[in-house]
Amino acid sequence: MILVHICCAVDSHYFLQRLKENYPAKKIVGFFYDPNIHPYGEYRLRLLDVQKSCQKLEIELIEGEYDYKKWLDLVSGYESEPEKGARCDICFDRRLEVSAKKASELGSGFLTTTLLMSPKKSFEQLKKRGEEVCKKEAIEFIAPDFRQKGGTQEQFVTAKEQKLYHQDYCGCIYALGMQRDSQKKIADELFSPISAQILPNSIEEKLSLYNKRYEMEEKGINHKIVREKFLNYRLLYGYVQKDGSVLESYPLAYSTLKRKSTKFRIVDKVKDIYFTNREEIIIISLDYFNKIIGTNYKDIKNIIKSPPLFETELKARSKIIYNFFSLSPIIVLKNIDLNGAYQLRLNAHIYEDVREHLVTFS
Ligand code: SF4
Repeated sequence: MILVHICCAVDSHYFLQRLKENYPAKKIVGFFYDPNIHPYGEYRLRLLDVQKSCQKLEIELIEGEYDYKKWLDLVSGYESEPEKGARCDICFDRRLEVSAKKASELGSGFLTTTLLMSPKKSFEQLKKRGEEVCKKEAIEFIAPDFRQKGGTQEQFVTAKEQKLYHQDYCGCIYALGMQRDSQKKIADELFSPISAQILPNSIEEKLSLYNKRYEMEEKGINHKIVREKFLNYRLLYGYVQKDGSVLESYPLAYSTLKRKSTKFRIVDKVKDIYFTNREEIIIISLDYFNKIIGTNYKDIKNIIKSPPLFETELKARSKIIYNFFSLSPIIVLKNIDLNGAYQLRLNAHIYEDVREHLVTFS
C-alpha cells in the first residue's frame, strides 16, 4: 500500500492517475492532512474537491486532523519568511511527519505527497524532507517526478477538464497576506461579515458554487464554470452618529466614502428618499427599505441576524438611484430626525476581482 499525502485536487488528480499507472499492483490511499490552510472555509473547499476527485478515481481518502493551533505554534517566528523559505520547510516537515506516522499506523511501507506536483514548490526540497521524515518511521519515501516531459501542462489540462477548484494562494495566512500585498489587493478571504451574508467571490460563495456543480455532475446536467471580471466590494465598518450616540443604521452594499468620516445634514426629501448636503449621502427609512425589498424587518439588529441577499441590496440600490455604477452611500436609518448634524463613519473597499459562475447547457 502507498499512502499519499494530498494537498489539493489540482495537484492530486493528475498525480494519482499517474501513480495508479506506475504502481498497478499497489493499493493507493489518500491522506488529506493540511492544517496550514486558512481560513477554515478554504480548508473545507479544498477538501470537498479532493473528496470528489478521489471518488472518481476510486481511491480511499482519509481526512487528517485540522490542528491549526499546533501548526501556528510550529511556524511561530517565521511569519515573514517568503514562500520556499524556512516556514515552508517547517510546514512540509509537519505535514510529512504526521503523514509518515499515519502510513506506519496503517502498515503502509510507502509514503509520497502530491506537493511534488506543484510547480511553485521545490521538488528537491520536498524530496529531501520526505526522505528524512520517512527514515525515522522506517518507511520508504517515493518521489516520482510527474512534472517532467509535459506533465505540468497535462496536469492543468486535466484540472480544466475535471473543473477542479483552482486556488490562487498556497494555503497559509502568511502566504495569503504577502500575495495580496504584492497584488495591492485586500485579503478578502479573511472577511466574514457579522451578518453571515454571503459576499461576492467569498469562500462561502465558492463552497456553494462547487456543491451545486457536484450536484449537477451527479444528475448528469451539462455545465461549465466561466470566469467573470467585476468590481467587488467589502465593508470594513459603517455607522451613523448623532449627538455622540451611535444610531441604528445599515449601509447598503457599494456605499463608499472618500475620507472614512464626514458630517452631514438632511436637506431635502423627495418621495421616500432623504438627500443630504455631503458626499452624495442618501438616507432611507427602514419602512421604505422593507417596502422595496419585500421584507418585514422590525429593526437593524433584525437585518444583521437575517440579512437580505447581497444581490437584493443591489436591487434596492438600483430602485433608489437609477444608475448601475452608483457608489453613493445609501444608509437605512431606523429613526430619522430632520434637524441637526449627523456623522457618518464608513470604511469600504471597491476593487477589481474575478469570480466563477456556473453555466448550464440544455
Ligand atoms: S507558503 Fe505554503 S508551504 Fe509555505 S508555510 Fe505557507 S502553506 Fe506552508
